[in-house]
Amino acid sequence: MNFMDHYTNYINSGDTDTRSAIMSMTEVVKKDVEAGDKERCREDMRRLYAYLNGSDIDEDSQKSIISSVMVLSSLQDRAWFRSEFAGYLSFISNDFYLKTAELDRVLDAARASEESYRFFDDKEMDIFIKRVIPLIADHYYGEGKAPDNSGDYYINKWYLLKYMEEEQGDLALLQKDYPGLYKCVEDIGNTSTSYRSLEIEYLKKIKGVTAPGIDLYRRLISSYYDNMQKIYPQRKDEYDQKRILWDKASGNDHCPCGSGRKFKKCHGNLI
Ligand SMILES: [Zn+2]
Repeated sequence: MNFMDHYTNYINSGDTDTRSAIMSMTEVVKKDVEAGDKERCREDMRRLYAYLNGSDIDEDSQKSIISSVMVLSSLQDRAWFRSEFAGYLSFISNDFYLKTAELDRVLDAARASEESYRFFDDKEMDIFIKRVIPLIADHYYGEGKAPDNSGDYYINKWYLLKYMEEEQGDLALLQKDYPGLYKCVEDIGNTSTSYRSLEIEYLKKIKGVTAPGIDLYRRLISSYYDNMQKIYPQRKDEYDQKRILWDKASGNDHCPCGSGRKFKKCHGNLI
């Protein structure tokens, strides 16, 4: 009798609650995936489905399903597991399970991450926003609000903000396909009077948790345009020009952000 059989018997005996059962079954699937045991993984996923089908899904159980999606989502770097994960998402998208807005958002994030992995694997490159937003959504909905000292959180938000400034068309796409994730974008956009002041606010926060003396802003800009070029190779020249503007800006030049202020009084102030 393997661990899973043992555990199923234990659950059926009624000695444990649904919530911990879901988490334990998820851990078993995770071990299968890490061991590369496809057959056992499929078998254990089927047991999880059977268990969910036979259980009352209360609020606590929903939280476990959310945690379970988070855990399994991180295993998608194994290409063979992606179809299993996609199957899990469609299973829990069933009306019976989908009862809270929180789960709805997590499903959005999980679907987007699943697509991102797939696109990346096909060398087609997904749009930038779908790669950044799941990370932000994870902070929002995974373990609650990010702590004040979380540099990654603000860096991701900064990337998203920069993207929002430049690629408004993709936001309409996002709103249509991923309403839950779009809420993240709206939250960010609504918190300030302008993208520029929000960008500076985030940069200060990022700076607060980065080693002093690092030319942070130029590094962010450079990595931003590197990423954009990978995603939109046909726009390489345009991105190169923007990057050069930022690289050359200094002192009394007009700031490349378009504020009309001198660089040293605007973004240069943050370098
Ligand atoms: Zn500026």
